[in-house]
Amino acid sequence: MSVEMGRIDSADRIKRLPPYLFAEVDRLKRELIQKGKDVIDLGVGDPDLPTPKFIIDALYEAAKDAKNHRYALDQGLPELRKGMARWYQNRFGVELNPDTEILPLIGSKEGIAHLPLALLNPGDISLVPDPCYPVYKSATWFAGGEVHLLDLLEENQYLPTFKDIPDRTLERAKLLFLNYPNNPTGACATPEFFKNTVSFAKEHQLIVCHDAAYTEIAFDHYKPLSFLQTPGAKSVGVEFHSLSKTYNMTGWRVGFVCGNHEVVRHLSKLKANIDSGIFQAIQIAGLKALEHGQAEVDRLKAIYQKRRDIVVNGFQEIGWQIQPPKATFYMWLPVPPGYTSQELCLKFLKEANVVVVPGNGFGSNGEGYFRISLTMAEDRLTEAVNRIKKIHTK
Ligand SMILES: *Cc1c(COP(=O)(O)O)cnc(C)c1O
Repeated sequence: MSVEMGRIDSADRIKRLPPYLFAEVDRLKRELIQKGKDVIDLGVGDPDLPTPKFIIDALYEAAKDAKNHRYALDQGLPELRKGMARWYQNRFGVELNPDTEILPLIGSKEGIAHLPLALLNPGDISLVPDPCYPVYKSATWFAGGEVHLLDLLEENQYLPTFKDIPDRTLERAKLLFLNYPNNPTGACATPEFFKNTVSFAKEHQLIVCHDAAYTEIAFDHYKPLSFLQTPGAKSVGVEFHSLSKTYNMTGWRVGFVCGNHEVVRHLSKLKANIDSGIFQAIQIAGLKALEHGQAEVDRLKAIYQKRRDIVVNGFQEIGWQIQPPKATFYMWLPVPPGYTSQELCLKFLKEANVVVVPGNGFGSNGEGYFRISLTMAEDRLTEAVNRIKKIHTK
């Protein structure tokens, strides 16, 4: 079979996507693995541990039942939505109407990616943090919207300041994306910040989209907030939640959006024309996870905390003072003087065979930082830290 090259052109919206920044790191990583090098990959933000057994068992049972084999309801099983509402009530004290204020998603990324299509008209603006999870930007562009970046800076605890946004931008702004606990910086929001966000959104008629993928991965007894705990939040926005990181279920694709009923309804209407819901057996297993997962989550948090401390203590010995993150399984570390983010990552890969992510891959404010994922067993993490220490002190 011969394939004619270059005959089929992509849409402009695909061409407009920024170049993949990790291409060089990926190429080199593959090359080293091919050469038989023992590469330790601290790049991926994907839990290394398996899904808890009781969730797998629930899937197995549900998968055997023929009534779960057909198209699922677009809005998800009512019992699942009720379970999600109960979970929010127990965890955050937030009351949600399971019929109007909750919509299950095929992973939260799916909902985040579709939201701008449901809410933006061409030329509308999304306010997007820099650095950030890249989907906020691409989803906005796909909907014909424009992105205005909000600086997340270390000196502001990686919280955006709204006062610098030009009035002309604010007039056209419709969405405000936020994400706390934050990927990639590990930063957490304060109640004051969320309170200011609600006032700001009300004043400028913005819809807040808070990505809460990491609220359950937190340390030292810290309990991250839901944006919806803020008085008035439900009138201005929604929160995206995910089972992926909480229960080691990234591959299963189950999450939900909750909060403002109009936003939920618009997204639901859009999605009814795109997908046909989540495999019902996965919904049933997801409900089990929400109902009975807390002990597993506590166990998992202790594991990540130990790993975090290995990295903090390890690097302390070469004089790197690291603020241990209060949440997420990421560590956001400053690049030592004399290197760009990209240069440092290539050095780590070539000389220590350790993969870390250059911070500029998440936005230009990420330059000067790199991200380590704690999704690696303790002995491998220790080995990675030792290798980096060795080349650093050489
Ligand atoms: C992992 C991640 C997601 C995606 O989660 P899914 O529910 O698996 O789609 C969303 N936002 C952030 C910030 C993430 O890191």
